[in-house]
Amino acid sequence: MPPPVPEAARAMPTDAATMQVAQVVPCTEAEGPGRRFAVWFQGCPLRCPGCCNPEFLPFKGGEAKTVAEMAGWLNRAREETGVEGITLLGGEPFAHAAAGVGLARAARDLGLSVMVFSGYTVEELRARPEPEVADLLALTDILVDGPYDRDRPDTERRWIGSTNQRIHFLTDRYSFDEPWRRRNTLEIRVRGREVSVNGFPAADAAGLWKGWRRKKPTPAAPAGGDAT
Ligand code: SF4
Repeated sequence: MPPPVPEAARAMPTDAATMQVAQVVPCTEAEGPGRRFAVWFQGCPLRCPGCCNPEFLPFKGGEAKTVAEMAGWLNRAREETGVEGITLLGGEPFAHAAAGVGLARAARDLGLSVMVFSGYTVEELRARPEPEVADLLALTDILVDGPYDRDRPDTERRWIGSTNQRIHFLTDRYSFDEPWRRRNTLEIRVRGREVSVNGFPAADAAGLWKGWRRKKPTPAAPAGGDAT
């Protein structure tokens, strides 16, 4: 049985509904096709060994943002940088499905596409009873599913972490075309003394810039959550 969605994530979205956001990159080419507005949620009930974002696993933390705030930010990114879609990552987007629905609807209303990375398989998601999980799936153009496996790094599919993960084109907006077959992409941003990194690096470079964080123990899974 997949771990349950936390109660706090189950309210249906309104513009005033909040989401716990760990990180936003308003324009990236390292998280899916074209330029994308990428949002990492704070909180994941899974525990993939070698998870690239252990600091995003606890459900406490991040920053609370309303759907309306995020939609406004997305619209500015669209106007200023020409992003063609959003990418939702984790943390686990389907553990924040109601908020994800709010943001995905805002993206679709702007004519933008929706890509989601999930540690659950599509079969597990389709078996879930929560309407917001089905709603988020219905708004998703590309789903990358399954737990990250550090022992099976993917070097053939540009934006994918491990070879067990599958790409589901849930609409006809995208297909497995040439850009997917390029090498992994990593983006490094330096702003003053702050360095941020996103995308998937070569396997031998994974986690190098987070070495200090990796010395911390992986946060325990929440009650009711399975470790994978
Ligand atoms: S699904 Fe796995 S890889 Fe993704 S945030 Fe959760 S533990 Fe990490």
